[in-house]
Amino acid sequence: MVKNMTEKDSAKGGKAQIHNIRAAKTVAETVKTTLGPMGMDKMMVDGGGNVIVTNDGATILRELDVSHPGGKMIAEVARTQESLCYDGTTSTVVLSGQLLGNSEMLFEKGLHPNVICRGYHEAAQMAVKYLVNEVAQDSDDRDRLVHVAKTAITGKTLETALDAVAELCVSAVEKAGDAESVKVVSFPGGSLEDSYLYNGVIVNKDFVLEGDNDYQSMLLINTGLETEKAEDNVQVQLDAKSYQSFKGASKADLVASAKHIVDAMPKGGVVFVRDGVSDMVCSYLKKNGIMVVRRMPESSMRALGRMSGLDIVQVPEEIEGAADVSITRERKNDIWYLFVGSEQENEEATLVLHGATSHTLEEVERGFDDALGVVSLVMKSGQFVVGGGNAYVRMATHLRQHAASVGGRAQMAIESFADALEVIPATIAENAGHDPLDTILAMRHEILQGRVSVGPDVTEGGVRDLLADGVIEPVALVRQAVLSAGEVTNAILRIDDIVARRPTQ
Ligand code: ADP
Ligand code: MG
Repeated sequence: MVKNMTEKDSAKGGKAQIHNIRAAKTVAETVKTTLGPMGMDKMMVDGGGNVIVTNDGATILRELDVSHPGGKMIAEVARTQESLCYDGTTSTVVLSGQLLGNSEMLFEKGLHPNVICRGYHEAAQMAVKYLVNEVAQDSDDRDRLVHVAKTAITGKTLETALDAVAELCVSAVEKAGDAESVKVVSFPGGSLEDSYLYNGVIVNKDFVLEGDNDYQSMLLINTGLETEKAEDNVQVQLDAKSYQSFKGASKADLVASAKHIVDAMPKGGVVFVRDGVSDMVCSYLKKNGIMVVRRMPESSMRALGRMSGLDIVQVPEEIEGAADVSITRERKNDIWYLFVGSEQENEEATLVLHGATSHTLEEVERGFDDALGVVSLVMKSGQFVVGGGNAYVRMATHLRQHAASVGGRAQMAIESFADALEVIPATIAENAGHDPLDTILAMRHEILQGRVSVGPDVTEGGVRDLLADGVIEPVALVRQAVLSAGEVTNAILRIDDIVARRPTQ
């Protein structure tokens, strides 16, 4: 802190606070119209004319040219939300914007930023405690997972194939165990409905030499099959005679290695090699009906190993036998891919996505990322809450009932926090063309009457039972959104001066 706040400054919020709040609110306004199933998309264009069309809050904020430090902090919170919970980025940003907006009103009423921070912190803790203990519901039902995927996808490009895509996401996560283990490969061309779950590994590589398009077995070798390039890499001093025998010896070794491979694997096989393979070895193997794929990425090697149960050997001499698999070579968009599948049960799941253009395909990938993520969150915790902002209104109701127990001026901040939470259903309704205030009031009323799973009816207006509609989402997502928004708001409120920093060396 460079200078002390004057009494007047602090009561109204210092200059830095006002500027930061404005910048943060502007960022929140930008993404606000994309929230919810009826949210619009943003088209983003850079100086070079490259276009992205997206509905994803984190993507918009990543691409948005935010220059004000306050705005940057909000953009940062979206990234945190995305990395922790995959989805809910727009909600987090919109909530942060509303919390900051409400804090301006509290400044007007004469509350000191520190009091607001304390109240907001208290409120966030109270809200998530209630959320986790009272609002969250248990589920180990597969159908619930499908609905969680659907809620995440609604309003996105993926919505055109809602049922198929949701089913695909759940199957993929079930098979692979969690979202990170699901591999996604996308091919332009075809339509979303052509997307499917491939029971195996897709390798973005081709054979070294031209071959057929179908093979039945494979070997995995973790090193290379080429003569040591001693002359390139290491300096060894050899006289002319021993140099000849050195080269000769390694060449003979290679031939021996290649023979090992031929002995271990029948015709019609493919050997995947982690490092380089000399052309001599490739053509020798090809003559024996074996194709070579060289310079394989390590992750693909491991995936192939897991899928087939085959050991990845260091040198051909260690080979014990080949694995039975089906290898199909396919050309997509001028690039050759190898589809390696196995009859036996395995956990490898590769989502093959199709989309008409590369723009839509990128948005499809982002949608899948969100959906896979939320499905795995609910699968792990087995807990969900009702979506459409229902959980937010329930937290708000709880906060209003308990604000007075905190006492002092901080309770004003807690009430203000409760009001801010309701921005989520309000915005979802507003973006669908319905009155936000009426929606909120109806939700409060219904919830107090015991109909606790209501939310905005985005098609007809008014409210409806969203649990019955299957609009549900992970409890972790809402919890993190509330905590992150509360934290970034407090961080911004605590800044009372912005000073230029010496550029980092
Ligand atoms: P975010 O980036 O925050 O995930 P989205 O644009 O994906 O933003 O909108 C998510 C919100 O839309 C969530 O609150 C979710 O519960 C809500 N939602 C999804 N489907 C429906 C629906 N059919 N009716 C009402 N709300 C819905
Ligand atoms: Mg979403």
